[in-house]
Amino acid sequence: MNISKENIEALRGLIECEPRNVVVLSHTNPDGDALGSSLAWAEALRQRGHKVTCIVPNRFPYYLEWMSGLEDMVIFKCDEEHRAAAAVAEAELIFCLDFHSLHRLDAPLSELIASNNTAGRILIDHHLDPPQEFDVMFSHPDASSTSYLIYKVIEALWGAQSITAKQAEVLYVGMMTDTGNFSFSHLTPDLYMSLAVLCATGINIPQIYNNVYNSFTEGRARLFGYTINRKMKTLRKGTVAYMSLTEAEMRRFWFQQGDNEGFVNYPLTIKKMRMSAIFTEHTDFIRVSLRSRGNVDVNLFANRYFNGGGHKNAAGGKSFVTMEETIAHFERSVEEFAKEGLL
Ligand code: 5GP
Ligand code: MN
Repeated sequence: MNISKENIEALRGLIECEPRNVVVLSHTNPDGDALGSSLAWAEALRQRGHKVTCIVPNRFPYYLEWMSGLEDMVIFKCDEEHRAAAAVAEAELIFCLDFHSLHRLDAPLSELIASNNTAGRILIDHHLDPPQEFDVMFSHPDASSTSYLIYKVIEALWGAQSITAKQAEVLYVGMMTDTGNFSFSHLTPDLYMSLAVLCATGINIPQIYNNVYNSFTEGRARLFGYTINRKMKTLRKGTVAYMSLTEAEMRRFWFQQGDNEGFVNYPLTIKKMRMSAIFTEHTDFIRVSLRSRGNVDVNLFANRYFNGGGHKNAAGGKSFVTMEETIAHFERSVEEFAKEGLL
């Protein structure tokens, strides 16, 4: 993965100047990478005198609450719309991190962002198929996380030695969570070299791992057991799995946001499994989450059948029909996909 010198110099031109008002924005249902990349980048800009407001559309999962700097993050849906509106109105630069389609932001946040049409827009992201609506674009689908991209951007601008332990900790969270603790794709030698630099700042890696992966509630553990045992169905001779969770089922296990994170990966622990899906019911829609192994392209699947996208082996989308209809649509789509030799 190569960061373009031209992009770096364009970015330098925007931020190595008098202090600016900056908004750093990330995606709905913010995960470790969304938060880690935003916090580290905001810190880098603040160190250089800029006034930075980080905005996320809604709450982050409780097991990420310990991350340093989150206390200042504006959570749009939690009665902080006025703070977001003030920051966006005065923003001279808007960074979009770890997502690229502004339509993934729901109204009224999407309208708020659109209302400022003078700010420079900069994309730093690793999802496939970005639109061309940014002034500067760091779009790298071959980067394992946006946090790694932020590391590379900071390295190119000011040298990796400028990264503090506080930044290293949140960047490590993003790199670790988006790679499934360094077990998915795009694990390059350069990624491990950047990890060595983060490690050298003195961060406590086992503690970070425990904070993220061993901090769930009892309800989450029981919901997980229930979902795998009772709700996992398989298709095509056990090579495709799907699970579904209704609001009532989640309530039964005292569901908190983020409790189903990672469930969709579990069917892929079965050797012959090629693709896995989970459908979770929300008030206005059903969230679809997809994972795959090898050449099975769930970005394409999500795009075609659920109006979504993501990465080749991890993608998502939404469904606006009932759970039964969503499942029937999924089963039909799997058959069509398989007929084309894509599964
Ligand atoms: P997750 O299943 O963890 O929610 O999402 C997996 C990947 O798919 C993430 O990289 C996420 O950004 C992407 N993704 C999830 N939902 C959507 C969606 O509705 N639209 C698009 N374009 N991408 C999505
Ligand atoms: Mn990411």
